[in-house]
Amino acid sequence: MNQTLTFDQAVNLFKEPHRIFIAAHIMPDGDCIGSALGLTWALRKIGKTVTVTCHDHVSESFAFLPGLKELSAQVPTDEELLVFVDGSSADRYGAAFDPKLFGARPVLAIDHHATNENFAPLNFVDATRGSCAEIIFRFVRALDIPLDATIAQCLLTGIITDTLGFRTSNTSPDTLRIASALIEAGATIGGVVEQVFNQYSLPSLRLRGKVFSAAQLDGNILWAEVSQKDLRDFGITNNGAGGMINALLGVDAAQIAALFTEKESGKIDVSMRARPGYDVSGVAARLGGGGHKQAAGALLDGPLTSARERVLAELRKVV
Ligand code: 5GP
Ligand code: MN
Repeated sequence: MNQTLTFDQAVNLFKEPHRIFIAAHIMPDGDCIGSALGLTWALRKIGKTVTVTCHDHVSESFAFLPGLKELSAQVPTDEELLVFVDGSSADRYGAAFDPKLFGARPVLAIDHHATNENFAPLNFVDATRGSCAEIIFRFVRALDIPLDATIAQCLLTGIITDTLGFRTSNTSPDTLRIASALIEAGATIGGVVEQVFNQYSLPSLRLRGKVFSAAQLDGNILWAEVSQKDLRDFGITNNGAGGMINALLGVDAAQIAALFTEKESGKIDVSMRARPGYDVSGVAARLGGGGHKQAAGALLDGPLTSARERVLAELRKVV
């Protein structure tokens, strides 16, 4: 039976083990990478040996975070504690989440998604948090680990990516207090923002032009799509589509936005955003994905047109 833990119970799991395995989720974003690396550097600071992993391609745009190169597709071996960060379901971790490999050691998931399925044997979920990195900060504090600039920069990256630079409705007073402590420890907002938001390639800008000019309004749902052909035509190899979804929801007539991206596998990634008062997490969960009220996603079978019709039919029910 899977268990949900109190904060203190979850913190205590870190005290005894010397070797710890940490996994970031697939299609990794700044929050899972910043959370995984921030926790890694913090635990190393108190003498732990940490293996930090991700079973997917990790974007070079996070190369400014120390340790990024370590995130490779490893599975648990002899670690005494396994930790899965920022994912709402087991399928977000690829081969790293394999109950056959768990044995008797504790396996903990730390997450902030409203759709979290308590998928791990042990779970600590706080869906009031705008980012997983805020929860990791609380763990670091509770373990009496002194912050340094490396830990702080990783965690601030998580906060800034998931709150879109302190602009989402789940940015709380505590988000700002934590960010403030991280800045005092040596992280800089400018350093993160420059790397995370102000860095896309010229082909990616041009792709945006094409995708945005073909965007469609369906009632108050704004949608757009990116095909493999688009990515090839614009010479984009890896996820040049990142960040477009937030611009779509900037359209005044839209309450909900959806971006469909055709993956190399032929699967369709749908990324959804909703204005406050609307909720796309339920739709994402019904489609086999997950997320938050204001930002959620799922991976669907192709082709693009049928995936789009399936999603729009669900979204029309929530607007
Ligand atoms: P994004 O649209 O930025 O990729 O994701 C928005 C939110 O939805 C993130 O919190 C992300 O973790 C979640 N999400 C996106 N795609 C999936 C998915 O395929 N499955 C699940 N469980 N969550 C997803
Ligand atoms: Mn997150």
